[in-house]
Amino acid sequence: MPYSAGARLPGESASKLGHLAVIQSDWVRALVNEFEAAKHDEQDPTNTLWETYNAEGAIPLRNVWAVDGSFVSIQSEQKPPREVAFVKTALLAVDRVRLEAIDKDHPHPLLLQDVLTGSAVFHATVFPLKNVRTELGTNYDAVRHIVRDSMKIDEGGAFYETLKWIAYKKWDKANISNSPGFQCPHCHEDIVQGLPNDADEGVCPNCTKTVFLTDMIGFHLDMDEESAPDSVASAYMLIMETLMLFTAIRVLWGHTDKSLVTDTLFIKDGPLTLRSQYSKLVPNIRDFLQHAKDTSRSVHVIGQEKSGAFFDHLASIVRFAQPHERDQSPSFAVLSHEFVRREVHRSPDLANPYGKRTNWGEKVYLKIDPGTYMVLNIPTGDYLADASMPTKEQLIGLQRIIATIPSLVSHKFEGALFPVELANGIASMSSYPSARILQRFIEEQSP
Ligand SMILES: [Zn+2]
Repeated sequence: MPYSAGARLPGESASKLGHLAVIQSDWVRALVNEFEAAKHDEQDPTNTLWETYNAEGAIPLRNVWAVDGSFVSIQSEQKPPREVAFVKTALLAVDRVRLEAIDKDHPHPLLLQDVLTGSAVFHATVFPLKNVRTELGTNYDAVRHIVRDSMKIDEGGAFYETLKWIAYKKWDKANISNSPGFQCPHCHEDIVQGLPNDADEGVCPNCTKTVFLTDMIGFHLDMDEESAPDSVASAYMLIMETLMLFTAIRVLWGHTDKSLVTDTLFIKDGPLTLRSQYSKLVPNIRDFLQHAKDTSRSVHVIGQEKSGAFFDHLASIVRFAQPHERDQSPSFAVLSHEFVRREVHRSPDLANPYGKRTNWGEKVYLKIDPGTYMVLNIPTGDYLADASMPTKEQLIGLQRIIATIPSLVSHKFEGALFPVELANGIASMSSYPSARILQRFIEEQSP
């Protein structure tokens, strides 16, 4: 997803409020004044606990991998309109030391090629959403098969291997666990025991029909027999971003140079969150990160949230935090579950521990210089149930992560990270063929 405009740097579209005649209304002006007045709070009304960053002894991470994705749905002009969705995700490696030498305001294109260490892969697929029927079967089955085939075919099956690595906890050689349990896509009964260790497919014990390991992820729960909503495309994008990032982690984890995985920063665009049925992968991901931590091979992963409740909260209070001048140290705030509930979401939902089911990263605010701040997600490994958790000690590699980030900051958008921007460039809509061509593509598929 692209970076949006901030208050300090010009965005991609300037505010048009000044041109609105309605600004002449006393009522509107009073409302605007109210907003202005709110800006002059003397102190942070939410009491965010900032801490000054001490870089002493923290070695920046040597390599950086970043992942990003996008999707677009296209309708044909026929009646009824056919609809398909294109999904694209990209993973790339950046040499941070070479990146440091680059002018981030006006990067030289040739130097840019140089920081991309030859490793940029993208994955793309297309889903039928509405009124598309192939000779092979229903839309429902088409999406299930496309998910399986897309993951299996690309990059010689590396992303699919990562799905198996996560589903069956393959980092632990002694482990023989089943996949997480899931709902059968045919009879909708729960297959509680999941699939047996290392299986690509199996048979539903209730209806005896074949189910795939990719059915375990649960895309079919977002569809009905005839059509699939956009959310299938966005969920697929999110799952593929996660699988691609973990493909880099998996490969480095198995590398003969055991220090390589720990000396790398892995960046995912967006929160480290998998919602609803997709959250069944979260316990396994946490399990791996805890295992890596326990065996002194910590894996440094961050997610960056560029919009949403945390981003808005940070934007509203960041001016109270150091640094106020360029030469001051950065500061950060680790948000406890209790703080998130009370000050960010403002919903004292105490029945469920915050983020337990869905999040594999905790929330951290970081302010590097007076105009550069960001919302990061950083994992802890196992979930910490205490509402006062996490603290900075539990976040995996916080010291080294913060030491690394200043050299990655791009000056194109506020708080933007250069590797994410590069991944976004590869995965973005602009690299799709134009909507018109895509539309023609669907129309040519007419029977
Ligand atoms: Zn079944």
